[in-house]
Amino acid sequence: MIIPPRQRFACLPTPIEEMPRLSAALQGPRLWVKRDDLTGLGMGGNKTRKLEFLVAEALANGARTLVTTGAVQSNHCRQTAAAAARFGLDCILVLVGETPIRPTGNLLLDHLFGAELIWTSRDKRDETLKATFDQAWEKGQRPYLVPYGGSSPTGAASYAMAMQELMAQKPDFDWIVFASSSGGTQAGMVVGAKLFGFSGHVLGISIDEPQDIFQSRIATLASATADFMGEKLTFATNDIQVNSDYLGAGYGILGNLEREAIQLFARSEGLLLDPVYTGRAAGGMIGLIRQGILRSKETVLFWHTGGTPALFADRYQELG
Ligand SMILES: *Cc1c(COP(=O)(O)O)cnc(C)c1O
Repeated sequence: MIIPPRQRFACLPTPIEEMPRLSAALQGPRLWVKRDDLTGLGMGGNKTRKLEFLVAEALANGARTLVTTGAVQSNHCRQTAAAAARFGLDCILVLVGETPIRPTGNLLLDHLFGAELIWTSRDKRDETLKATFDQAWEKGQRPYLVPYGGSSPTGAASYAMAMQELMAQKPDFDWIVFASSSGGTQAGMVVGAKLFGFSGHVLGISIDEPQDIFQSRIATLASATADFMGEKLTFATNDIQVNSDYLGAGYGILGNLEREAIQLFARSEGLLLDPVYTGRAAGGMIGLIRQGILRSKETVLFWHTGGTPALFADRYQELG
């Protein structure tokens, strides 16, 4: 196995905590949470693990500027901006949406970390990103493109290594459940499960993608990640467990599912979830417990992927 170069700046290992009051409230299985909302950098989250490897790659390439893209309330963009600041690099973020009247949540933090912001629309995103990158290159800024969601084999390798971390902490869960969107977290986890011998289910709750397309995309990324780590492992569509029953009214649209999950975690355990990712994934987990798919005699790890700064975005004020 080849462990790719890495800059160490995340607070690792992240703790695993039991959630007995939540288990009791749901009359369900024993539940734990792995706190990747506590990875540290700029309020943390799963992108910080990926950035340890992506920043190492950028520095090895002589980069002086990190360029990436995402939604207005992107946690990925916020953590990328923080990582750039941490390494004395410039950061350019191509954000999909319109300049809000005042920045809140993750966007406020993007400003604070000193990122340059370029606004675009969903259909012009890739074009704007490429033009931004080319311009930075021509100006001699030595840009490095951090892929969407940090989900290249380089970024995903971090979650293979996170499985090694889990195996040293508590290896015996029947299920790992978490929010899955650009797929790098899940691709890395399934590679790590194979490499380090995790035998439970690795179940991604899809945030914004239908099941079949998403499974095959993650399988492809997982195979590429294994290859990048010097391992001959190929993953097929049905090696990837995804549930796409909780897409609600679309990306970032808060519904009853997310609202109930956020309140239940807050009131039974004092734990904060976010409105876009972990709220939806926890809502999905609660749904699967109520359906008896996650059974009472099993043990379930909810892998918290962060995102809590979005709780303070204007658009989610209804949560209060
Ligand atoms: C990006 C993100 C995810 C999804 O991770 P992917 O690797 O893109 O699938 C989940 N939760 C939060 C809070 C995120 O910011």
